[in-house]
Amino acid sequence: MGTRPSTDRRKKDAPFRAGTIALVGRPNVGKSTLLNALLGERIAITSHHPETTRDRIAGIVTRDHAQLVFLDTPGIHRPRHRLGERMNDLAADAAASADVAVFMTDVTETPDAKPREDDRAILTTIPARTPTIIVVNKVDRVKPKPLLFPVLEAYGAIRDVAAVVPVSALKRDGIERILDEVEKHLPESPPLYDPEEISDKPVRFFVAEFVREQVLRRTRQEVPHGVAVTVDTFEEGPKMTRIAVTVHVAKESHKGIIIGDGGKMLGAIGKAARERAEHLLGRKVHLTTFVRATPGWFDDPKRLADLGYVDERPRTKQKKEKSG
Ligand code: GDP
Ligand code: MG
Repeated sequence: MGTRPSTDRRKKDAPFRAGTIALVGRPNVGKSTLLNALLGERIAITSHHPETTRDRIAGIVTRDHAQLVFLDTPGIHRPRHRLGERMNDLAADAAASADVAVFMTDVTETPDAKPREDDRAILTTIPARTPTIIVVNKVDRVKPKPLLFPVLEAYGAIRDVAAVVPVSALKRDGIERILDEVEKHLPESPPLYDPEEISDKPVRFFVAEFVREQVLRRTRQEVPHGVAVTVDTFEEGPKMTRIAVTVHVAKESHKGIIIGDGGKMLGAIGKAARERAEHLLGRKVHLTTFVRATPGWFDDPKRLADLGYVDERPRTKQKKEKSG
């Protein structure tokens, strides 16, 4: 993230501000899309499945006078099983511990001026003392723009808010204003991270996410949320980085879907994920992908921790399927 030139000379003496920002909202409103747009690099994954972000991803934007550390939290929603509960915890924690909360909602072509009940519920989990910016996303869908005014007004009336900002994360329209509004409410502080950094997550985490994203994109409804990816080995060789990952599925019968006819699906997943990993690392990657049934992993807290994407366990003999 390079710094942007300041247009305001008086800002030269402004104090530096830095802090954390929790991005909260229902699944699918566009949180990951916004983060990607802000960072200019696709590091948070997006897909047509809601709830694909299982862990916090800190994306860092460094500007002339501020550094914004974004936490991408999973959408707050009614827990259906333990994994859902854990995501709720993460979202609530993030909102409580952040310096600023960015609450996102979205609109349809004909927006309803009355705020959604589940949006109200999420807004109340944000502590009153946390400066909150409401972002109304997907405004590209609304053709007569005046239809938006009552929506913006109604959301702004739910609680004390610092600003209500209409945007299109997809078209990158209005997002600079989010940064401006957030910046105003950050505490005075030196930068928290080296400005060259875009994330505090280890690269291997992103490699696991790239693989998971490909699985979700290519399998649609057949393997709903039933996958986790662990990185088993990550070796930086002189010419290339060798990575081995395991895709964990909930059921034995899901393995075939991911592997595909003659390993075709797994091959395509591996190839696409490898290309993104090479782009991220800037060097050649050799990626080996295994598939394993780990029944009930999403109901077992220990397994969830075990599958925490920073798995340091040595490779075991349990891996059956293999593809390059
Ligand atoms: P998240 O679950 O909140 O992280 O949502 P995502 O970022 O994964 O986005 C969910 C879906 O909404 C994706 O299909 C996005 O392409 C779409 N989307 C996100 N932002 C916009 C926007 O500004 N306009 C439109 N029309 N679609 C958007
Ligand atoms: Mg997301």
